[in-house]
Amino acid sequence: MSKTEERFLNSSWIVSNRPERNQVDPYKPYACLVEQERSASGDIKDTGIIFLSNKECSFRCLMCDLWKNTTEESVPEGAIPKQIKWALEQMPGIKQVKLYNSGSFFDEKAIPVKDYKDIASLVSGCETVVVEAHPKLINNRCLEFRDLLSAELEVAIGLETVHPGVLRKLNKQMDVDDFTQAVTFLNQHQIRSRAFILLRPPFLSEEEGIHWAKKSLDLAFEAGVDCCTVIPVRPGNGAMDLLMKSGEFEKPELSSLEEVLDYGISLGAGRVFADTWDLELFSNCSNCFQDRLHRLTFINQSQSLLPKVMCSCIPDQGMT
Ligand code: SF4
Ligand SMILES: [Zn+2]
Repeated sequence: MSKTEERFLNSSWIVSNRPERNQVDPYKPYACLVEQERSASGDIKDTGIIFLSNKECSFRCLMCDLWKNTTEESVPEGAIPKQIKWALEQMPGIKQVKLYNSGSFFDEKAIPVKDYKDIASLVSGCETVVVEAHPKLINNRCLEFRDLLSAELEVAIGLETVHPGVLRKLNKQMDVDDFTQAVTFLNQHQIRSRAFILLRPPFLSEEEGIHWAKKSLDLAFEAGVDCCTVIPVRPGNGAMDLLMKSGEFEKPELSSLEEVLDYGISLGAGRVFADTWDLELFSNCSNCFQDRLHRLTFINQSQSLLPKVMCSCIPDQGMT
């Protein structure tokens, strides 16, 4: 199949190739869960993640599948606090909470500004509140929300990749300078930040995927983020599946995630996490998968390296 011309990689092409979205209830998060995460202070904290049912993001990134669990219209005022209240009741005792809304928390079409006060009051039992935002939507609204919180605010920003050509093709409508400026703004106002970094976005080989993920970690820490999460890119949103068919995208390998995480930890510049959600998708060996998952989880929590898992599926290990 022929390569996709860059002029097609726009919002309408991306949207036209989507499968159906799921039905979500504007008064209930579409998911919530508790995970253990190492905090900035070095303790392992019970961290609740609330996947808020919210209006679809205003951007249309090529690799994004978060729109699958969104509404087409803005949710009513008061709906987001109701969702958070319900989720917190399912997760008593959490110390950190991630309010992930499949877009930008500070997009006024997503989270009504009038709800900030109620949200802040609901999460007052947590030490840290993490929200996500596109770099172009980092502005004084962050300060408004921070001032209402008793908890510390952290903002997660998708840097995705510092490969300039690939970042442009992702249709994220941002460049590396936008990211750096957003992090600088947050740092100037004593707000922590984390970067989401993609492992092997489309148009890159496996080796290039590793190389550019490492360079993206370098840049994120130089810009001043507190921590980074490395996310292996997956198909499933329509556009990515077409790029897979045309040979312009392949899922990264588990060993690449291990290599990039090891590199990030060795920088000693801040916490680095590997996203282990649905990790089996990137494994091609059932013999070592569980061991490798445990190793990555251990490194995420301890931020210290462990010897690699040995298995005959890994080249150069000479095992039978
Ligand atoms: S900005 Fe984030 S949520 Fe919005 S489309 Fe891009 S990746 Fe998805
Ligand atoms: Zn194996």
